Amino acid sequence: MKIVRVDTEVDDITYGSVEPEGIRLYRGTPFVAWEPTESVVEWTRARILAPVIPTKIVAVGKNYADHAEEMGGEVPANPIIFMKPPTSVIGPLHTIRLPAQSEEVHHEAELAVVIGKVTRNVRIEDVGPHILGYTAANDVTARDLQRADGQPTRAKGFDTFCPLGPAIDTELDPTEGLSVVARVNGDLRQEGSTADMVFGVGELVSFVSSVMTLLPGDVLLTGTPSGVGPIIPGDRVEVEIEGIGVLVNPVAAA
Ligand code: ZN
Repeated sequence: MKIVRVDTEVDDITYGSVEPEGIRLYRGTPFVAWEPTESVVEWTRARILAPVIPTKIVAVGKNYADHAEEMGGEVPANPIIFMKPPTSVIGPLHTIRLPAQSEEVHHEAELAVVIGKVTRNVRIEDVGPHILGYTAANDVTARDLQRADGQPTRAKGFDTFCPLGPAIDTELDPTEGLSVVARVNGDLRQEGSTADMVFGVGELVSFVSSVMTLLPGDVLLTGTPSGVGPIIPGDRVEVEIEGIGVLVNPVAAA
């Protein structure tokens, strides 16, 4: 199933599933009281929103060997995690705003894991049922500020710096190797495979859950392959994950 969160002209903000004829609206959320209705809304009458409103976004650094190398570092022995604030989330087609404090903002195409239920101290082999599904993310990063600060909170925490979407796919298996692609104005910038992640999804969720309780709707960003690079006002950046779809965002000055 592909789950979307939509703003329609006929209803309040709600969730739905992607069907050939449009979006089937659901009562409740994918996390509680999830039930299909009779309503199907045409695509032209729905605005696709970020698929979840997370309480937190936990991201992992240097989880692809080729990206660790381009950043001038080794692959770490344990996942190196950091957080992005929920206020950084935007949906498909929403504008990434480049802050005045930075002169070098980069795209980072990433597979995002959407947590489905309360997850705390879960073993790797038990992670599966805790995952609702997967979506695409852009871990937008002010690279100059990341270098200057020596830690990522400011560089990765600006409003609009976490585009998510367009849909949550509940049936994908990243261990099979899904392509992770970034394009800027149609030009290929990044192309990797989830099969090349240093720490797999099970290891990452288990590791993070040994530190902090993950709640339904929380999001884990699984790292980016090599090829990160700048985006500037007027650009159109796309993140495409095989089986999920294309997350498109325009770029503008703040
Ligand atoms: Zn990243």
